[in-house]
Amino acid sequence: MDIRFWGVRGSLATPLSNEKLHEKLAAAIDMALKSDLKQGDDISAFIDGLQWKNKRTVGGDTSCIEVRAGETILVLDAGTGIRPLGQKLCQTIKEGPINANVLISHTHWDHISGIPFFAPAFRPGSRITFYIPEPRMEYSIRNQQDFEYFPVPLSPSFGFAQIPRGNPFYIDDIEIECIPLNHPGGSYGFRIKHEGKILVYATDSEYKDLSSDAVKPFTDFFQNADLLVFDAQYTISENIEKEDWGHSNIFTGIDMAIAAGVKNMVFTHHDPMSDDSVLADILYRAREYIKISQPDIDLRLFMAYEGLKMKI
Ligand SMILES: [Zn+2]
Ligand SMILES: [Zn+2]
Repeated sequence: MDIRFWGVRGSLATPLSNEKLHEKLAAAIDMALKSDLKQGDDISAFIDGLQWKNKRTVGGDTSCIEVRAGETILVLDAGTGIRPLGQKLCQTIKEGPINANVLISHTHWDHISGIPFFAPAFRPGSRITFYIPEPRMEYSIRNQQDFEYFPVPLSPSFGFAQIPRGNPFYIDDIEIECIPLNHPGGSYGFRIKHEGKILVYATDSEYKDLSSDAVKPFTDFFQNADLLVFDAQYTISENIEKEDWGHSNIFTGIDMAIAAGVKNMVFTHHDPMSDDSVLADILYRAREYIKISQPDIDLRLFMAYEGLKMKI
């Protein structure tokens, strides 16, 4: 499976501010002045050598991940990140209809607000199917484009398929299982299996009770995943302050991933209050935590950012 992250913010789209851009530029220029960089030197190589927080950003779009499994296009959630994904699909598939399958974890805005801007829906003959874990979600998605909120109704290119309860279901040769998560109003995780590889998408979930009995349904669901995409919106202290807000933190994710034998974990659904510097620091501390507490465990940890590509 080829995986690409198009939107990694939780709660609300969070574009890079001019103030933060200024900080990055000031840090880069300071480094340039201290280095022996001269006119005509390779500026790209110099930029590559800067710290991550000074040369990149996680981006501002909300939840959306593209998964390619063989010829099948799977999309995980339809936050604002689905807009640039749609543009890219229209550029690469130059003519004819575009068919895609969108798994919806739940219908909070940060997971559905990009739908009206998904360009492939305007291609004649396109078929985009929303896979929804609960029937009420069709109303929520349609109602988002009620004239009260948006001038155009949901495109007829979109269809809905109810995810069956309890059993795996199939999209082409992809096997998918679904689990309810702990989130106000409900959210669902997906376990996606293709050609022996396993991707688990578990966003918008809080794990208050960390006893082994309480986490077992989730660690069973994460079992032996080649890649776990995990909601780590908060730091540990924020998680305690924001009890029952329905999100988790990276350290809880690491402990669960280790218990489940996960190979790679990406943390995502970044809080709008966390800037690139805060997120880079969380990644550093989390990698140190694994190194110190579990030196023999082979769990690779990544931070989601717009444009991150992974292959499993
Ligand atoms: Zn969310
Ligand atoms: Zn939510």
